[in-house]
Amino acid sequence: MRNKCEHGITGNKTDKRYKGRLKEIRRSKEQQSDGTSIDVYTFVITRALGTMTYTFRGEVPIDLRQYFTPGDRVLHHVGCAIPELLDKSKTYKVCMDCGAVIKRGQACCPFCGYSFI
Ligand SMILES: [Zn+2]
Repeated sequence: MRNKCEHGITGNKTDKRYKGRLKEIRRSKEQQSDGTSIDVYTFVITRALGTMTYTFRGEVPIDLRQYFTPGDRVLHHVGCAIPELLDKSKTYKVCMDCGAVIKRGQACCPFCGYSFI
């Protein structure tokens, strides 16, 4: 199994579910030591009492800025940098743990095994 910390969530002990609205999604490139670059997504989630920022680093098959729109209602899951989109109108979803694109209705991610229930 993968180490949940690798995607940039720090302070896992205090990480908890966080429901709010997506205020901002940013994408940048980060240079790795072997010369390749990886995508870095930053999610800013706001709610009445505060703001949280989560950072995802890794390869994803789509540009997550096309999946998430600022203003969307989202739920952050403990240990996952990618929030869950609470709007169920899309026919697919993005795994909160690994960023894979999968069909809606699956109980767990076929790529990383993360359970959505
Ligand atoms: Zn996954």
